[in-house]
Amino acid sequence: MLKCDFGNLARDVQRLEQAGAELLHWDVMDGRFVPNLSYGAMVIAALAQRTDLASEAHLMIEDADRYLDEYVQAGCDWITIHIEAGKDPRGTLRRIRAAGCWAGLALNPGTPAERLRPYLEDVDSVLVMSVEPGFGGQRFIPSSLEKLQEVRGLVGPDKLVAIDGGIGPETIAACAAAGADVFVAGSAIFDRPDFRPALDELSALARESHRGR
Ligand code: ZN
Repeated sequence: MLKCDFGNLARDVQRLEQAGAELLHWDVMDGRFVPNLSYGAMVIAALAQRTDLASEAHLMIEDADRYLDEYVQAGCDWITIHIEAGKDPRGTLRRIRAAGCWAGLALNPGTPAERLRPYLEDVDSVLVMSVEPGFGGQRFIPSSLEKLQEVRGLVGPDKLVAIDGGIGPETIAACAAAGADVFVAGSAIFDRPDFRPALDELSALARESHRGR
């Protein structure tokens, strides 16, 4: 949702729902873990009430543990924290699951896939950042494809692997082939006048490539 029209958030959520989106991905930034601010639990709560779509909070914040309850109460179904942030990712992941949400762990581009190994039992999903976190509209980092393959190998077939950053018609098929099954797209949808053809095109490319995996 980082690339949506912030003056028309409710309208954009409705447009996404009508266009067949499967999930709202909220990039939460604190100006510390990443050099930018976005929105927080209050905004997500207000929008989650207006849609049947599931919400994922991608917390790019230093102290996710401290603010976790707010995102649970905001109606998030899925909460993803960064392995590079906070002292105790395991404790936070367990709290997310105990609250009845899916627990995700995100890796920055410079963080090796191996760092996941101690947390495999505690995650429902892994999110691979394919740009440096903090800003929308960046170009996909090509080495993210190898990272996706490594992550898929580590987590096995049953957990979700998400890719976030620079996802569009040029990159989505390769990501699906490399092991991703959740695709976070911003500019590729919001920069188009009509969301449905953008989503249909991305879905078709991902499905086709996923079948060949
Ligand atoms: Zn994100």
